[in-house]
Amino acid sequence: MKFMCETCSKTFEAEGTKREWIDRTYGPCSRWTAICPDCGVECQMVPTAHLQAGDFDDAGMDGGSCNCGGGSCSCGN
Ligand SMILES: [Zn+2]
Repeated sequence: MKFMCETCSKTFEAEGTKREWIDRTYGPCSRWTAICPDCGVECQMVPTAHLQAGDFDDAGMDGGSCNCGGGSCSCGN
């Protein structure tokens, strides 16, 4: 799975940990998190739409909507 560290602005591959909790508003929730190998901060999975932007760059991707400034992002090609 791919995760993105907002602190380092980089993406990395990790196995991840599934977090589940009961939200007061939304009820049962779950999400995948992983620890950044660089800074140790808990990171969230890269949204699917973000990954697809790199695969379908002829589908309206204007290059300006990608906010992965770290240089290791797959959406910049
Ligand atoms: Zn980091």
